[in-house]
Amino acid sequence: MRDQFTPYCPHCQSSSSNLSPVIEDTEHFLFSCPLKLEVWRHTLSLYISPRFTHFAYEEYLAILHLHLTFDRSSHELFPDLSVFQVFACIQQAIWSALYCQVFQHSPLISFTVILSIHRSLHLLDSQLSFDSTN
Ligand SMILES: [Zn+2]
Repeated sequence: MRDQFTPYCPHCQSSSSNLSPVIEDTEHFLFSCPLKLEVWRHTLSLYISPRFTHFAYEEYLAILHLHLTFDRSSHELFPDLSVFQVFACIQQAIWSALYCQVFQHSPLISFTVILSIHRSLHLLDSQLSFDSTN
């Protein structure tokens, strides 16, 4: 149990492409780990704007601090959801996957996380639509 907690990223540590372990600082933990970054860039470019294909940590922080103003009301997917709602669903899905990895030892697979994000967005959109019709 004691050696389970290390300063190194468990994903990058077990990756065969990296020779030296990567220290898991705040940026790496929340954003820049390649598995998480793939999820961020894929989902933000899909659900917010293609400009986020190269989503950077500075933009992540801007959204996190509610500083990024971006209108997605004309988006074809879930137009009633705000940037912050989409962002929160993505963050929540990544956190859930991390929890499952740590406590249930299930691997973090970006495709699975991306699917769960779509389900979360669909559920939230349905709930908001239901609330607005009542
Ligand atoms: Zn990593």
